[in-house]
Amino acid sequence: MLNKVLVANRGEIAVRIMRACRELGISTVAVYSEADREAMFAKYADESHFIGPPPPLQSYLNMDAIIEVALKTKAEAIHPGYGFLAENDKFSDMVEKNGLVFIGPTGQNIREMGDKIFSKRTMKSSGVPVVPGTEEGIQDVEKAKDVAHEIGYPVILKASGGGGGIGMKIVDNENDLIEAIESTKRVAKSAFGDESVLLEKYLDEPRHVEYQIIADNKGNVIHVRERECSVQRRHQKLIEETPSCVMTEELREKMGEAATQAAKAVSYRNAGTVEFMYSKGNFYFLEMNTRLQVEHPITEMITGVDLAKEQLRVASGLDLQYAQEDITGQGWAFECRICAEDPENNFFPSPGKIVEYKEPAGPGIRVDSGVYAGFDVPPFYDSLLSKLIVWGRDRNEAIKRMKRALWEYEITGIKTNIPFHEVVLDNEFFVKGDYTTHFIKERNILDEVKRYLESGK
Ligand code: ADP
Repeated sequence: MLNKVLVANRGEIAVRIMRACRELGISTVAVYSEADREAMFAKYADESHFIGPPPPLQSYLNMDAIIEVALKTKAEAIHPGYGFLAENDKFSDMVEKNGLVFIGPTGQNIREMGDKIFSKRTMKSSGVPVVPGTEEGIQDVEKAKDVAHEIGYPVILKASGGGGGIGMKIVDNENDLIEAIESTKRVAKSAFGDESVLLEKYLDEPRHVEYQIIADNKGNVIHVRERECSVQRRHQKLIEETPSCVMTEELREKMGEAATQAAKAVSYRNAGTVEFMYSKGNFYFLEMNTRLQVEHPITEMITGVDLAKEQLRVASGLDLQYAQEDITGQGWAFECRICAEDPENNFFPSPGKIVEYKEPAGPGIRVDSGVYAGFDVPPFYDSLLSKLIVWGRDRNEAIKRMKRALWEYEITGIKTNIPFHEVVLDNEFFVKGDYTTHFIKERNILDEVKRYLESGK
């Protein structure tokens, strides 16, 4: 087992990883920016090193500075968390070139899966269903027109190197196609430095169902069941649950098999998530995220597998300690992402000093947080403050428990999106499990939130 790990991240995920390290007897090194001098993770680590200076965002992207601290402190490995350098193939390679272990996939895994065109082609050839569409980056708009005509409108254009919902455009008819291709290429080029764009069918009634996978260095791969992440705003997930309401034992087996097949196809290493779109009984590979996901705790809640620890174990060269048949799920789990956002002002980021802070507690509650009372939430980073995760014997109990937990959660001094979650958990369609990725728009959730706030509850 590793003895010392540097966590190249901040906020709740840095704390989450260090907690796993502490339980495994691994000492921890944090790196922090000027804005994070007083952050919880920097205090939590066994030792913390300043990698300032401003601009603050650059600190956690400064590969040289991070590796220098790792070498200086004699850390043996680096955990990248999510975001920042987590899906940076050069960083993974650079860490290993310096004789350190990257707690995640190889640079090559990241390169291959980060390219939507390449990964789709690889999946298709290994028998994993993919969304119908172009197989290559669009060169010839006339050919793209033919493909779109064949699969039928609407279609979606995506930057091959894209992520975070950026570089995607839905096209409703042929008249808009050429201009949309041009503009998506421009966005792709400026945001990701690669103008390759693919076109695929924009699926009807799409639900986002993803599979957690974990692989050791010897080619053993298992899946740790599904998560449904269809409650999205601007393609960003807000509430996740497991199991998925659309799941049957038969479908789980089929999708799980496809997910492990996807990982095997690229000789994947460590934890990853295979994302699928589910539409009217069919499922299609969407992409693979080559890191630990924000929403990983719901999987931990129902399966008992500690994914962060499992990552540390396999990165230490140990075999997976589970076989596929060891993975079972019990009950239901939800996660609400608690963000510093102002629901009265179009969910605009609301950084600033937290005055009072009291987390919910009691049966079935888990809070993965990176903040505390008195902490000044910096404006430079993602607005995620904490994740509220609940477990219930069944979906109904889990929903009621989440509502109770949101009611208990006290955060003052800054605005949060807690009212949004309260409104969703009260929505009759959500309660029935009858929702797609269009849920927020389709059910006018943002107007509902406005009304809810005006009613002064
Ligand atoms: P990113 O890499 O930016 O996260 P993804 O390809 O993972 O992009 O897609 C993000 C979200 O966009 C999905 O969860 C889904 O809501 C929507 N989406 C993507 N592709 C399709 C599609 N073919 N049909 C319908 N919705 C889609």
